[in-house]
Amino acid sequence: MKFNFSGKSVLVTGSSRGIGFATAELFAEHGAKVAIHYNRDKQKAEKALQQLSGSGHVIIQADLASSDDAQTLIDNTIKAFGKIDILVNNAGIYEDNDISELTYQQWQDVWQHTLSVNLYGPANTSFCAAQHMMKVGGGKIINISSRGAFRGEPTAPAYGASKAGLNSMSQSMAVALAPHNIFVYVVAPGFVETDMAAHLLDSPKGDSIREQSPLNRVAKPVEVATTIAFLASEGSEYLTGGIVDVNGASYLRS
Ligand code: NAP
Repeated sequence: MKFNFSGKSVLVTGSSRGIGFATAELFAEHGAKVAIHYNRDKQKAEKALQQLSGSGHVIIQADLASSDDAQTLIDNTIKAFGKIDILVNNAGIYEDNDISELTYQQWQDVWQHTLSVNLYGPANTSFCAAQHMMKVGGGKIINISSRGAFRGEPTAPAYGASKAGLNSMSQSMAVALAPHNIFVYVVAPGFVETDMAAHLLDSPKGDSIREQSPLNRVAKPVEVATTIAFLASEGSEYLTGGIVDVNGASYLRS
């Protein structure tokens, strides 16, 4: 697909690996300056940076469970590039919290951590980036949700709820920010070949997961990245508020 992100500054959260890295690669390949963001794995982030096409990219660390870190992440990106045109809220965690297996304390811990990273994190980066985008005349925010928001996550209800919350926040922000020329989208993947899903895809359940799609496979990270790049491109503005499924027809909704 032909994209052109020359002159654009992009922050992709959680871009040291997985979907975030594939997205950073695609933006860089098409001319953008990219901020690679990570939380714990600096080595992976440095390797990711080395692999990007072009020059002028940066690495920034931040724990998105912390509201201070979220603000610093946006501030540091603006310091590095002078602006943020596109924010991709991709970083996320998946923690099992099966109601039949956990203690009450464990149940609370998973809810707390999952919502902090998957919902408050993007809410905070969106707030801080939007302040900047409103000043400079516009921008785009793309939030990475999940099929689980619609289909349910019986053994990870906090994860499903965090993504349903992200969908709702994105829709509200699309309306609130449209007058400022800021466009907000959601991409909702099904299973994707990344570290996050590896323990399931490599397990005896792997084949039945792949069979959920009539394509008999899960998504490659670049397929999600391509959808993100499409939404980030000029011409997709009227899609604001939309939630785009990238799930290989494994779960259909209308
Ligand atoms: P992944 O391979 O597990 O990578 C997660 C990324 O998020 C890493 O860069 C990680 O950085 C970062 N991260 C984790 N905790 C963080 C925190 N507290 N603060 C800041 N960054 C943090 O994940 P993925 O599979 O590419 O998933 C990307 C997004 O797609 C997530 O939002 C996920 O929910 C969604 N998604 C994935 C799938 C799937 O099957 N893979 C399906 C549907 C939706 P460090 O390594 O440095 O900690």
